[in-house]
Amino acid sequence: MMAVASAAWTPSYPTTTTRHRAWKKPDGVRCSRTRRNQNTRAFASADAPSAVPVDPCLFVRAAVARATDSGHFVIPAARVAELAETRGLQATDLLPEFVREAQKLAIPPTSRFHVGAAALGESGAVFLGVNVELPGLPLNASIHAEQFAVVTAMRFGEKKLSAIATTAAPCGHCRQFMNELRDAKTLRVIIPGDDSDNQMKLGMQLILPLADLLPHSFGPLDLTHDDAAPLLLETRHNGLRVLAAFEKEKKTDVADVEINTATALALSEANVAYAPYSQSPAGLVLVTKTGQAFPGRAVESAAYNPTMSPLHVSLCAAVSTGDLGNTSDKGGGGWSRLKTCVLVELPNAPVQYAETTRMILKAIAPHVEVTVVHCERIEG
Ligand SMILES: [Zn+2]
Repeated sequence: MMAVASAAWTPSYPTTTTRHRAWKKPDGVRCSRTRRNQNTRAFASADAPSAVPVDPCLFVRAAVARATDSGHFVIPAARVAELAETRGLQATDLLPEFVREAQKLAIPPTSRFHVGAAALGESGAVFLGVNVELPGLPLNASIHAEQFAVVTAMRFGEKKLSAIATTAAPCGHCRQFMNELRDAKTLRVIIPGDDSDNQMKLGMQLILPLADLLPHSFGPLDLTHDDAAPLLLETRHNGLRVLAAFEKEKKTDVADVEINTATALALSEANVAYAPYSQSPAGLVLVTKTGQAFPGRAVESAAYNPTMSPLHVSLCAAVSTGDLGNTSDKGGGGWSRLKTCVLVELPNAPVQYAETTRMILKAIAPHVEVTVVHCERIEG
């Protein structure tokens, strides 16, 4: 029997004591030019001969490897603090190094352009993201690295982000998506500098508040006119329950108990979905053939188009395991591990996700059975 995760499933941070498989010797990953020499000396291992300094990037690489091996895409606060303290740096100084490692995990079969992102949460943890392109689908079905990092933070209950580093300057789509955060204007965006600024040199980082990258912005208050309403990453409950007699989209060979378990998890996602503009909260769960469950929820944008569907958020969770989506062939590779999808949504809401969910899964994992379960708002 498939062991679908329970409805009470709660992601937990990987511990710093998790042992990672033996990783390879560093092969030329470069640290910040300005700090490399001092850091090399600072990170010489007590166990190693003093004449053989250890590249500090090795430790960043190991931290990212642990984050991905554990299927979380999160570097715990304690590990971030340890890395920063040892090298006499601030946590934000490490973000570009995390980005360089995360970037290698991107899935861009169409563009071949690898993007990484690393967001620093108020808790001190770092949340990773990569770009994910879905073969056989329009380009606007892609997931951007910054979006991925923000929903990684959301999955782990982070309430505020203080900084985000990216491979290159965030595109307009991502600047708008990050504008859903409470303190978006002061969010520090760290991007590679270039020679265009006389104050910068190649290899240095440029740190800008999001307000400088998105002047005269359109945001949540322009539509809701309610500054007390919870924003993205903030706590909410949508008061939904599954209709007593929901009708399955079609009969499948999946046992009812498995669908029911996945439905409970999808409902819990729908109840924390961020849908202030359409009032169309929805939740979804993808389940693999071995019973791994990847939850997702709707995350809306005031500008509508940067909105992430429950399926897209779920795909981020799936990619975080590191063994799904690594495919360049249409509909094959890692996505073939997916078996079942359960979507919970309101039947009469202005936004419906059922058809686009089927369309996307038909392109990347056509064997996946999609079950749509309708819910209703609890009165009072
Ligand atoms: Zn983007």
